[in-house]
Parts: sequence; structure tokens; C-alpha cells
Amino acid sequence: MSPIIVAIDGYSSCGKSTLAKALANKLSYAYIDSGAMYRCVTLYALQNGMIKDKNFLPEEIIPTLPYIHIRFQFNAHSKTSDTFLNDINVERNIRTLEVADFVSKVSAIKEVRSHMVALQRKMGKNKGIVMDGRDIGTNVFPKAELKLFMTADMDVRTQRRVDELNSKGMHVNYEEIKNNLLQRDYDDTHRKENPLTKAADAVVLDNSELNKEEQLDFVLKLMHDLMLDK
Ligand code: C5P
Repeated sequence: MSPIIVAIDGYSSCGKSTLAKALANKLSYAYIDSGAMYRCVTLYALQNGMIKDKNFLPEEIIPTLPYIHIRFQFNAHSKTSDTFLNDINVERNIRTLEVADFVSKVSAIKEVRSHMVALQRKMGKNKGIVMDGRDIGTNVFPKAELKLFMTADMDVRTQRRVDELNSKGMHVNYEEIKNNLLQRDYDDTHRKENPLTKAADAVVLDNSELNKEEQLDFVLKLMHDLMLDK
């Protein structure tokens, strides 16, 4: 089968990136974390004093977009890619609650989205990628050969995020994480520009009760069926 684009969309902390990484490894595809790109813009805005007293002006962020260089580099140790912002590895810095608290608002800026979408399309021009996010199947790659829409129970999602951050040495409060997820779900589904919604041709995967292997098997079966259809 010639390389395809796999688009994985869904709510925050539904396990999109875990599945996307496993699938990319299995297929020897590149994994592209589009959320990391919006997180980089948010981190840049925080580092450069553009977010003050929990507020920011889009007019201050938009002109800086040409100075924000984002790339992904494969890390042989973790067997996945790290995110680099202006040549600095920010894989850890973009996952803080501070960034999470502002990223949905920053990603709602029209100009930020069009800049990131153009980069994402460039990264996928030769196919052979698994990209996860909120608008990949609906907007970035509406013709992606395989689209998944992931969802899971809110408490399962919260616990997963708490465990993930704890495992990175960041000790967080369960309620704080849950509130952040609820707020991001609201912001992501209600924004004007490319809100999170299921593409009509996306397959829904509720992974509340599925382990990683079961999820990977589910997608590999979909790919197998796709191949038979060709
Ligand atoms: O996937 P992750 O949780 O890291 O994404 C961080 C945020 O970036 C999301 O809450 C969402 O606001 C934004 N995002 C987006 N479009 C994408 C990917 C992420 O708006 N394609």
C-alpha cells in the first residue's frame, strides 16, 4: 500500500498521541503532533511577555509568527519525536499547566491557525504521516485516507493526564487538570475557526476501556480493510 495520511482528532487527553506514536512506529511513518505546534506559539508568547495578567492581545502575537520556527526531531532514546522551538528542545516546557491554560485561546487566533495549517500541510506533502490534533481530518487534510475521532470518559482522561504529568515529575492536582480539560473542550468546540468536530467520514474510537494494544489493533484492522477496498 502506498503511504497514506492518517488523521487523528479528538478531545484533549484521549490518548491520541499515544496511539498516533504507536501507529507511526508500526508503519515507519512520521508522527506529527499538531497540538505541540500551538503549544510552541503559546510558550513563545509567554516567554516574550505577551501574556500578562492572564490576558494577551492577538495583535502582539500575530507579527511574531515568522520568528517562530518549529520542527520535530526523532529521539532514538524515547523512539518518538521531540519538539524544537527556534532550535531549543521544548518537549517538556510545552507540557506545563501554564501553557495548557492559554493554548486553546492562542490557537483560536485565525492567523495563528492559518500559519500552523500551512506548515502542517507542508509536513504532510509526501504522505506517510500520522498527525493528531483537533482539525486534521476536517480542515488540514480533508482528503486523508484514514480519519479517526477519539473520545473517552472525562475521569479516565483526567487520570491519564495526571499520570502522564506525574511520570514526568510534575506533581499536579486532579481537579485542576479536570477543569483545564473541561475548559479546553469548551474552547476547542466553540471557537469560530475550525472548531473541533468529527469529520463525516471519521471512525469513532472510544478508548475508555481499551488498552494500548487493543487500540492499535483496532486501527491496523481499519488499515487492512482500507487496503482490501483499494
Ligand atoms: O493536543 P494538545 O492537547 O497538545 O493540543 C493543545 C491545544 O492546541 C488544544 O487544546 C487545542 O486548543 C489546540 N489545537 C488545535 N488544533 C489542533 C491541535 C491542537 O487547536 N490541530
